[in-house]
Amino acid sequence: MSKNTDELFKNVIAHAKEYGFVFQSSEIYDGLSAVYDYGQNGAELKNNIKAYWWKSMVQLNDNIVGIDSAIFMHPKIWKASGHVDGFSDPMIDNKDSKKRYRADQLLEDRIAKYDKDGKTDKAEQLQLELDKALNADDLPRLRDLIVEHEIACPISGTRNWTEVRQFNLMFSTQMGAVADDADTIYLRPETAQGIFVNYLNVQKTGRMKIPFGIAQIGKAFRNEVIARQFIIRMREFEQMEMQFFVRPGTQKEWFDKWKEARLKWHLALGTPAEKYRYHEHVKLAHYADAAYDIEFEFPFGFKEVEGIHSRTDFDLSQHQQFSGKKMQYFDPEVDPETNKPYGNYVPYVIETSIGLDRMFLLTMINAYEEEDLSTEEKQDSRTVLRLHPCLAPVKAAIFPLTKKDGLPEKAREIMDSLKLDFNMQYEEKDAIGKRYRRQDAIGTPFCITVDHQTLEDNTVTIRHRDSMEQERVPADQLEKIIGDLVSW
Ligand code: ATP
Repeated sequence: MSKNTDELFKNVIAHAKEYGFVFQSSEIYDGLSAVYDYGQNGAELKNNIKAYWWKSMVQLNDNIVGIDSAIFMHPKIWKASGHVDGFSDPMIDNKDSKKRYRADQLLEDRIAKYDKDGKTDKAEQLQLELDKALNADDLPRLRDLIVEHEIACPISGTRNWTEVRQFNLMFSTQMGAVADDADTIYLRPETAQGIFVNYLNVQKTGRMKIPFGIAQIGKAFRNEVIARQFIIRMREFEQMEMQFFVRPGTQKEWFDKWKEARLKWHLALGTPAEKYRYHEHVKLAHYADAAYDIEFEFPFGFKEVEGIHSRTDFDLSQHQQFSGKKMQYFDPEVDPETNKPYGNYVPYVIETSIGLDRMFLLTMINAYEEEDLSTEEKQDSRTVLRLHPCLAPVKAAIFPLTKKDGLPEKAREIMDSLKLDFNMQYEEKDAIGKRYRRQDAIGTPFCITVDHQTLEDNTVTIRHRDSMEQERVPADQLEKIIGDLVSW
């Protein structure tokens, strides 16, 4: 990471805290590693991102519906899905510092360093070796690579490594009063399984016809080996997932469609296209026959934000086997080749899975700007979040010019007429210029000032965040002006 991008990232993290977007969890107790809380503005921004996703996935697609399944699920589900036996990361300890690392991440970091130093051949060679070792689950080879490439512990600086072991990422807990093995349940590591086990409930009660999708937004938990990069890798995070059920044999076509549609969703927020790229998975998860990531260029490099996976009929077939219940769908449509209905089958599934917290971070990073406003006469600057207006936590702030002469009352009256439609903020403290800066810092698209003229002719000054231009408009036009910009 160059000094500038390093600094940008640090500044965004500091800004997120200073303006009530993200706080370290349990901060007064020195924090809990890789767990974060969203503050007053963060919660609004997060809700707006969820709404954007939900509207475009569920509301705009009449063959996709949304559910909200429980975090706790029957433990057999995680056996069937393969998570109990296979949801793990390769872990290695440094014997001197007693610090624990992900073996693959140490190697990824080394590859990035080779790249940065212009040693492209070495980077490519190591990437190949790493993929090969991961594909074969060859843990001793991972350790050999760490030794061969002379990777030292970032803390102790020594190369005194243990063997590599698999570490299961699922959190477990006990349900009920009796703590024996039978009561062990897991905090879900993905929301997808809640969709799979409900797919026939939804299909039948919603009379859904293939192809159809089920979407869900919810918490997921992973006991990540190490915490890294702020809200990129958390132990408690949120996912927005959609499982799309298709006729076997059509999965490639649907995979390509969703891959494209999901990138469009990202770009529709105005993010420059060069900030995104696709990354094809070389190592496929046990359930997948194709997988692409959508990656975003964070200050520390390209990183996965969303995965599009062709999950075959793996999950539904596994649940059919483990539960003993039929997971088949009856397809009455006639196959033009055989002239008979397609009949009973276990559908194939295309999944789109996006991390809400990573989406949140990329939105903050994209929007953050330290703008130099200096003129010949004076030095000036502002920090502005150029958020898409639909995502802005506060849509409009309203300021009485002074705290007297009935201006606060008039401002409140205008605010009351708008607050049912838009999230508004009332501010009367400090000079107007300072109030503008505070709203710029949280990305508020409009600031409305009520002054003495307002009392006479019911006009107000509206100031635009991005251009900083101000115009005088009748108060009764505010709803339309704000609505035109901030509605979906
Ligand atoms: P990574 O390789 O970065 O660990 P993953 O491939 O394990 O991610 P998926 O299982 O495909 O991730 O999960 C789907 C999405 O959930 C990811 O694209 C990411 O945005 C998000 N996600 C996964 N793990 C975390 C985490 N620990 N913290 C925050 N978001 C996460």
